[in-house]
Amino acid sequence: MSSTSPIVGIDLGTTNSLIGAMDAGFPILLADAEDERLTPSVVHFPSTGEPLVGRAAARMRALDPANTVYSAKRLIGRRGGEATDDVSYALVGERGAAVRVQVRGREYAPEEISALVLKKLRADAGRALGGEVTRAVITVPAYFNDAQRQATKRAGELAGFTVERIVNEPTAAALAYGLDKLGDRSKVAVFDLGGGTFDISILELNQGVFQVLSTNGDTRLGGDDIDAALIADFRLRISDLVPEADARLREALVAAKHRLSFEDETRIELPFFTGAESLVRTLTRAELERVARPIVERTRAHCLRALHDAKLSPADLDEVILVGGQTRMPLVRDFVRAIFQREPNVSQNPDEAVALGATIQAGILSGAVQNVVLLDVTPLSLGIETFGGLMNVIIPRNSTIPIKAGEMFTNAVAGQRAMLIKVVQGERELVRDNWPLGEFELEFEPAPKGHARVGVQFEIDASGILHVLARDTKTGAQKVVEMTSAVDVSDEAVEKMLEESLEHAFEDMSDRVFVEAKLKSDELLPAVRQALAQAGPELDTDELALIAQRVAEVEAALAAGAGQPLKRANTALDEATQRLATLLIERALRVS
Ligand code: AMP
Repeated sequence: MSSTSPIVGIDLGTTNSLIGAMDAGFPILLADAEDERLTPSVVHFPSTGEPLVGRAAARMRALDPANTVYSAKRLIGRRGGEATDDVSYALVGERGAAVRVQVRGREYAPEEISALVLKKLRADAGRALGGEVTRAVITVPAYFNDAQRQATKRAGELAGFTVERIVNEPTAAALAYGLDKLGDRSKVAVFDLGGGTFDISILELNQGVFQVLSTNGDTRLGGDDIDAALIADFRLRISDLVPEADARLREALVAAKHRLSFEDETRIELPFFTGAESLVRTLTRAELERVARPIVERTRAHCLRALHDAKLSPADLDEVILVGGQTRMPLVRDFVRAIFQREPNVSQNPDEAVALGATIQAGILSGAVQNVVLLDVTPLSLGIETFGGLMNVIIPRNSTIPIKAGEMFTNAVAGQRAMLIKVVQGERELVRDNWPLGEFELEFEPAPKGHARVGVQFEIDASGILHVLARDTKTGAQKVVEMTSAVDVSDEAVEKMLEESLEHAFEDMSDRVFVEAKLKSDELLPAVRQALAQAGPELDTDELALIAQRVAEVEAALAAGAGQPLKRANTALDEATQRLATLLIERALRVS
């Protein structure tokens, strides 16, 4: 594997995938043996022999739907028990466990299916470039969490690639649109509606560097949903459809949907559709739009949230670019125009922008393209659990990556021999409301309470993958853990997390105040009792009565679970015991 081998750029899409390479300083997309650049992300498992991948597999989708796997990208990071898409092949997975595809009695992880697609792309690229291709840049939706990025990287490795970088799709698209040529501080929205995922990202160009100001989206929203709604609508209007006709109908309706991006009406013809009878119908753009409108409408809230997170209004944007095949639909363009109050830039082929950008990124990595650096952001905060089950954020949401950040922690209990590092992702104040990413133990030398020093460092590499390091600063003993899919969370859940964090912001804050105040009370009460036992007799009765009253107030607030009153009661007890504390110090000085 020589380091001079070319690096290819790959758009591993839900519906279609593409591969490109730099040629004489230009990014070009590579064609397969049939001279096609778009490879359907579909794998068919025949009863004997090797799996078919790409167009050959897509053709089998209608004929043998149970053994033809499509949209595997939607399954990456999904768990059993979550709402499932209506797919024509079998899915298995215990509640909470990663979803697997079941075909011909064998189970496959979604990334194994993606790996087969990548393997075909790799072979095609090798043929086109005249040599083995071993290094790749692969794109993922900006919203993919750590586990999903890892799974994508794994897919690349299974296909025989060294994955040089995982790049966010909108960032790649911005490069393909040549947005690095815009003026400094230009702000851009990347609206990406593909087959299965929707992403909206707001980028800012900063001295030749792209920075993602915010990202939002839904990995379960795309052209596939429009197809499904169109099929359902059509079935309602045709009474004598047999279920086996579904796949053929789907193919015909998707093709009609594509034509309706350029025509006002189109004919759907299915010879011998119900056995003897053929189906001939006219579908108008208006009819398609009526069905598609509620689905396209779902993009609006994400766009508004992304603008809000970036602290921008539509007027602040300099450019809005379209990515993903579904943005060819005039209705989608109308929505984009209305939301962002400007004409979208359609100068690039929306199907190819991400792959071209991935290729440019590959060119940057191999040194073929210079003077552009790409920065992405973390979609959710990352942290560890501290005392009382509180979330301690180490890398806040929307931080620019790559990033490294750390904090020092200590032991809660004297003589403790190990510290459990529980890594969590999310926006809530209490760890139990966030998602666990993984945990490990670091052993350290026993020390009195509060004396151990354990440094915890989070590093997110350029691919968005998290490495957690914990080190006992005294002995130098350390552990580094790459966070793999301890818990795979769907991107729908990411969105839910953001909504919940806003919704519960107030109660979360009071939960945090209470937990922190309780930690303080737990230290204060025993300390006051001990001090009273030693120096109490030196206080007068009024002082003793006041301290007893303040202690009772702290206990009452503790029992009531009330954060702010407990905080106030702690402060009052602290003040009431000032003289007691001074007496103790004086005693200690006298003794020594
Ligand atoms: P992508 O994930 O970018 O490959 O986008 C694929 C989606 O775009 C699928 O849902 C396609 O049906 C849809 N699509 C492709 N071409 C068109 C078109 N001309 N008009 C409307 N939708 C299209």
